Amino acid sequence: MVVDFVRADSSPTVAPATPLLATPAAAVQAAEALAPRLFAQAAATDAEAVFPTQEFDWLRAAGLFTAALAPGLGGAGLGAPTATEELLTVLRHVGRGNLAVGRLYEGHTNALLLMQLFGTPAQAARWAADAATGLLFGVWNTEAPAHGVRLEALPGGRYRLHGAKTFASGAGYVARPLLTGALPDGQGWQMLVLPADAQPPVLDRSFWRPLGMRSTASHRADLTGLEIGPEDLLGPPNAYYRQPWFGGGASRFAAVQLGGAEAVYDETRRFLQALGRTDDPYQRQRLGQMALLIESGRQWLRGAAAHAILPNDAGAPASPAAGAYANLVRTAIEQIGLAVLPLAERCVGARGLLQPEPFERLHRDLTHYLRQPAPDFVLADVGRFVLEGNDLY
Ligand SMILES: Cc1cc2nc3c(=O)[nH]c(=O)nc-3n(C[C@H](O)[C@H](O)[C@H](O)COP(=O)(O)OP(=O)(O)OC[C@H]3O[C@@H](n4cnc5c(N)ncnc54)[C@H](O)[C@@H]3O)c2cc1C
Repeated sequence: MVVDFVRADSSPTVAPATPLLATPAAAVQAAEALAPRLFAQAAATDAEAVFPTQEFDWLRAAGLFTAALAPGLGGAGLGAPTATEELLTVLRHVGRGNLAVGRLYEGHTNALLLMQLFGTPAQAARWAADAATGLLFGVWNTEAPAHGVRLEALPGGRYRLHGAKTFASGAGYVARPLLTGALPDGQGWQMLVLPADAQPPVLDRSFWRPLGMRSTASHRADLTGLEIGPEDLLGPPNAYYRQPWFGGGASRFAAVQLGGAEAVYDETRRFLQALGRTDDPYQRQRLGQMALLIESGRQWLRGAAAHAILPNDAGAPASPAAGAYANLVRTAIEQIGLAVLPLAERCVGARGLLQPEPFERLHRDLTHYLRQPAPDFVLADVGRFVLEGNDLY
């Protein structure tokens, strides 16, 4: 099986050098400006065999590829706790442009945040330089339990990998997947950053025949036989699941999801305006309801920026309230997405669900991306938390 690994800048045109975005606010402006361009291109990459390479060139040219890095590493400081609202807004805008690109960009961003949090200064500098040259990062944790990833110890602190990841977004394109695996002898769950250009996994593309999010290339990636050195290990064992970062990260995918719901809302409005169907009281009622839902989602993201902030010090305490709040954010935004879709369908009717109108793609993508791990458990866990007498903030 051929692994068509490419750099994010592999399109025929030469990608311009990364301009530095000076501030998180500048990153928000850049993402907002890019969203319509991403949206205009989204139908062209709506296929399992097409990766949005050009879109990542645009993100890179806009400075967004490295925006999550600290200024000292050449970024806009979007990962700073004080920039949480800006980070979530950037993710929302990218998701609004193209939900598949938003998913991939969130994985890239998550990896950059984790490597800055848990990496040594030398590792952070090395991986920041990789991102600056256009290498795409991702986070691959999901696996089928029977075929999960484990590390076999070799001499010299090296490890050989065994097993596979599923839903490995960007597989074949992500050059630096941050992945997890079981250390020998029950020593724990270890993060590592695989140099996939030198050590390419074997991909099973038959895994990825999805309802939506087609161009995320979320294949099954078999890592068996690949070898890594001590310089590729990230953080101590079990750092990946350390709170509040693991649970708190839910606010980021929720922000991307809300962007997808916003695209549905924006397009519904455009569709009705184009048809001159703006005077009908029932359509107005539905648009009012959609406006309420979207604004509620934005308020939840503001709430996340106030109450589910992730510290950038790996020694910070667990902060269970922040985790519970992030679980509320993801649950609320899931419910918002699920409520927006049928309202839009009723507004645009059967003809609106025909291509080249974007609604059928938007519907497929959002429906699929709203499926995130253990949705029932996380809400029940908020219930447990408050029943134990805790406040959310
Ligand atoms: C487009 C896309 C891209 C993705 N990319 C990545 C990626 O790059 N990296 C990565 O690591 N992952 C990725 N994922 C996987 C993602 O993080 C989740 O693992 C996946 O979406 C889980 O969804 P699920 O609905 O199967 O979850 P589940 O947790 O299996 O939930 C499904 C249902 O089962 C219920 N349930 C959960 N546990 C139990 C149980 N023990 N007993 C009974 N019922 C249970 C839930 O409440 C829910 O009703 C991606 C997913 C998608 C859709």
